[in-house]
Amino acid sequence: ARARGNNPLSFDKSAELIERNAQWMAGGVNSNFRLNISPTPLVFERGEGPWLYDADGNKLIDYYLGMGPMILGHKPQALVDAVKQEIEKGFLFAGQTTVEAEAARLVCELVPSAERMRFGCSGSEVDQAAIRLARAATGRKKIIKFEGHYHGWFDNVLWSTAPALNAAGPENAPVPVAGSKGQLTETADALVVLPWNNLDLVVERLAQGDIAGVIMEAAMCNAGAVHPAPGYLEGVREACTRYGTILIFDEVITGFRLAPGGAQERFGVTPDLSTFGKAIANGFPVAAIVGRADLMEMFATGGVVHGGTYNAQPIAMAATVATLMSLKPSLYATLEERGGRLMRGMGEIFARAGVLAQVAGFPQVFHVALGLDVPARNYRDLARMDRPAYVALTTALLHRGVRALERGAWFLSIEHSDAVIDDTLLAVEDSVRELKA
Ligand code: PLP
Repeated sequence: ARARGNNPLSFDKSAELIERNAQWMAGGVNSNFRLNISPTPLVFERGEGPWLYDADGNKLIDYYLGMGPMILGHKPQALVDAVKQEIEKGFLFAGQTTVEAEAARLVCELVPSAERMRFGCSGSEVDQAAIRLARAATGRKKIIKFEGHYHGWFDNVLWSTAPALNAAGPENAPVPVAGSKGQLTETADALVVLPWNNLDLVVERLAQGDIAGVIMEAAMCNAGAVHPAPGYLEGVREACTRYGTILIFDEVITGFRLAPGGAQERFGVTPDLSTFGKAIANGFPVAAIVGRADLMEMFATGGVVHGGTYNAQPIAMAATVATLMSLKPSLYATLEERGGRLMRGMGEIFARAGVLAQVAGFPQVFHVALGLDVPARNYRDLARMDRPAYVALTTALLHRGVRALERGAWFLSIEHSDAVIDDTLLAVEDSVRELKA
């Protein structure tokens, strides 16, 4: 049952297990982005629909959704059936299967720019494949990336990234900020870090003619949920074509979420290469790089290496097919309607309570920034949000049975019914009241 007011949920068992498990797993977790959660990283028993059930016996409405993948909610029956059937056939063949071809066909059918594709296992690694391909195709070295856009945890892209949310240098000429100790700092020499959503700056830099690729989240959804400025994507597209630069959209969050064909479909701009992950397989470790046939064929005949023992793992491919088959237009219409209601409802609660907040982005993935009086346009704006106040809010929400990411993102699944959204809004109202008191 959902606790209210002076009877908050307890997470003591999770805290105890994390402490015990830390003797085997560093920090008791397997990703740094699961650390430093208030009041404690959680341990889960199972998930179903919009809910997670944790070690303390709490039933939580989940807006993490595995950090974005679970667009169909937890444990959808179509995936359970598909995976059970596939698992009977064996696990891994280091060869091709019918199910992977079907998954590939669906990806190419859904994504506008996908003339060819390849599967991988994580967003981080397919982003590496895209960057390598851009360099191979152009014979150039430098990649433009944008402040606050996250493209995985590897050395050459973990610069000025979302989880760090710390910026350096002037806004129009950022100084790259390393995301991790131990990172090879020379990798910054092959990067140009620019502020996003400023067309003049990127066109000016591309005009120097030495940029292999531009990589961006076509809508900035990792650090916030920021729309591209009108004409921005089109302008970057045109400049990339003019100056012989490969345009890469990182659609790891936006793919299969903002529309069946991702941000590129929603905004009508076609990248040369794009990368997908997360919602492509509703929780199974699947990612994809897709794009122009002439570029993608370089993996086959152009001497560009892309490998991976687990690429197109058949059980994960069965999950991919079942997910992609479920992505009907009506699903997006429902997500838009319910997510819109949740966004508006939260905005009204903050306004009534006199709490300065921006609820921005897309109904399927939106962002709540406390302390901002206008919507964020980029990373520098997001860096100004009141993070301690927001963590206090997510902590208060968690104690009322609602789990939302501390960085401000809210992911929606088709299982978040109107009733679940009503419960969520009650918890938000109650939490805001507590924090104001
Ligand atoms: N690109 C974006 C936009 C992401 O949000 C993420 C992960 O959050 C990645 C890439 C990396 O994906 P993965 O965590 O699967 O390596």
